[in-house]
Amino acid sequence: MTVSPKRALIIGGGIAGPVLALFLKRYGFDVQVFEALSGPSGTGGGIGLASNGMNVLAAAGVVEQVRDVSVTADDWAFENQHGKLLACWPARDPARYGQPSVMITRAALHRVVVDRAEEQGIPVHYSKRLVRIDDRPSRPIVAHFEDGSTAEGDFIVGADGIRSLVRQSVMPEAPKPVYTGMMSPGGFSPCIGDVSYGARSNQQTHFIFGQKGFFGYFNVVTSEGPRTCWWSTASAPLDSKERITTKAELQQRLLALHGDWAHPIPQLLQSAEVILNVPIHDVPDLPHWSVNRTVLIGDAAHAVAPHSGQGASMALEDAMFLAKLLRESNGTSFEKVFAIFEQQRRPRTDKVIALGRRYARQKENMSALAYWVQQQMTRVFVPLESKKQEWLLGYKIE
Ligand SMILES: Cc1cc2nc3c(=O)[nH]c(=O)nc-3n(C[C@H](O)[C@H](O)[C@H](O)COP(=O)(O)OP(=O)(O)OC[C@H]3O[C@@H](n4cnc5c(N)ncnc54)[C@H](O)[C@@H]3O)c2cc1C
Repeated sequence: MTVSPKRALIIGGGIAGPVLALFLKRYGFDVQVFEALSGPSGTGGGIGLASNGMNVLAAAGVVEQVRDVSVTADDWAFENQHGKLLACWPARDPARYGQPSVMITRAALHRVVVDRAEEQGIPVHYSKRLVRIDDRPSRPIVAHFEDGSTAEGDFIVGADGIRSLVRQSVMPEAPKPVYTGMMSPGGFSPCIGDVSYGARSNQQTHFIFGQKGFFGYFNVVTSEGPRTCWWSTASAPLDSKERITTKAELQQRLLALHGDWAHPIPQLLQSAEVILNVPIHDVPDLPHWSVNRTVLIGDAAHAVAPHSGQGASMALEDAMFLAKLLRESNGTSFEKVFAIFEQQRRPRTDKVIALGRRYARQKENMSALAYWVQQQMTRVFVPLESKKQEWLLGYKIE
């Protein structure tokens, strides 16, 4: 008797969804991806994809495609607002970490993983916004979409991001994302300086901690060519997003914050072509990541505020880890597999979330004395910390 493959419905075709689909397809599952947007997303800023995330992309068979549209990060430079280099953290070390860290636009990363899923014959359905899930005993689990259509499967994975409707549908009591009190406007400017630019050129990512706020920048390849991608993080009331809407207003606010910081920060702000204003939200710890035959992964389960630069990498690790457990499940119920997934993944994601919250505190406004102390600590602790990062950057799922 032939056993029909298990049917996986993946809600969310962002970063984690298509990568999970690639692994599950390889392991013999019948997979479909459902995405709310009407087509592949060209939106989003630039992200740093750390070695641990790149190790997952290598296992998924897309690392070369990702390297072709990204810039290899050689090291992370920690500077003060006057342009003084405080410490340098080597971002790539093949022997310790495996793949190099890269800088990439979220849109380019998304495009690579979605294209690969489609090449592998995985249906990616667009304009399918999940609104509800029906999970009744002895029946297939059913996803209901906004357009009135439905899909039936054996289990559902919510890879639908920080505002997950899968989460809302199966655990309406779960805490909602909360504003962290920090805005993170970011944008793209023409490449500045004499940077040698190319898809695989080696570049520094600059992390600049000021007395009031933070500024970071790195070079990326966008669909319009090489650009410098930058972002600023500072305390701001949430309603400032509603009050400051135009590019000119945002630019003015950013120049008020960083206009007297060292080169090239004022220039990057003055020449900005695009500016997006992003409020940073955190998802308080969820009581659980799964309910019956539905499980959450990536930002839907544990949004990692961007300060650790690990959101996409954690989502990718989740995808590979879950696929591996499902492959090895040998008839174990989905409920049980999902409980094991949470039990084994949570300690790591909790640790990374704690790290991100710690980094966030360094971006808060501080007194002149506290700022001086912070700079001394950066000089001492960044080189020390960079020596013990295997647990984070060298992580590989066997
Ligand atoms: C300002 C900022 C900077 C960041 N910087 C970094 C960084 O440097 N490094 C890093 O690793 N991470 C960074 N991140 C985080 C990173 O972008 C996310 O962690 C990552 O994209 C999570 O992947 P995901 O697949 O879980 O969710 P997403 O990539 O958000 O994908 C979710 C998908 O689900 C779709 N969707 C939503 N609702 C529904 C629905 N009801 N039905 C169907 N589809 C739906 C969405 O359209 C989307 O395509 C940053 C985030 C922010 C906000």
